[in-house]
Amino acid sequence: MPQEVSFVTSAFQSEQFPPADRPEIAFAGRSNVGKSSLINKLVGRKNLAKISARPGRTRSINFFSVENFLYLADLPGYGYAAVSQKMRQSWKRLVEAYLTTRPNLKAVVLIIDIRRGPEGADIELLNWLRAYEIRTVIVLTKADKVSRGRAKQRVDLILQQFAEGGVDRPLIFSAKTGQGKSELWSRIQEAIEG
Ligand code: GDP
Repeated sequence: MPQEVSFVTSAFQSEQFPPADRPEIAFAGRSNVGKSSLINKLVGRKNLAKISARPGRTRSINFFSVENFLYLADLPGYGYAAVSQKMRQSWKRLVEAYLTTRPNLKAVVLIIDIRRGPEGADIELLNWLRAYEIRTVIVLTKADKVSRGRAKQRVDLILQQFAEGGVDRPLIFSAKTGQGKSELWSRIQEAIEG
């Protein structure tokens, strides 16, 4: 587990991204999927990613520094029904600008609720990441809410669903029990090493 983790900045436009001077891993998922919980569990901090849940911060990309060798980029959650068309467009603009221009981006961790599987907006993002050839790690979270058998079924289903897309085996995760945490760090390490 990293010793030093700190909040760097909230970016509402690309000019506000920190200098691309180290590898970066981004985290994406629908609102409420458990993205903050996953980031907090990963770095062993209780409230680090909570900052993104503050009003006004939810539309920004929040950057965290891990021991001065890695950035984590917490992308704004999507798919929240009550969000206006205008908000959705600004989400798209910011996230697209990020994904298409960030030179140090090594992988996107796409977080999906293990009980729900990929839905419309997840699939859209997944196809998009594939088109831009951005390495994607699918993480199925809230695994503590289903049986082991059911979890494996969900993994197999996604592998089948995206067989042609060549997706890597989705990782089973739980922010509650810590399941999958070291495997996720391994995948991040692999992505950094290219
Ligand atoms: P975010 O909006 O994607 O950042 O989601 P949060 O991390 O705030 O989590 C949304 C809700 O799901 C909260 O009530 C969390 O406690 C809960 N949650 C997140 N991850 C897990 C998990 O792995 N297991 C369980 N049981 N609940 C989780």
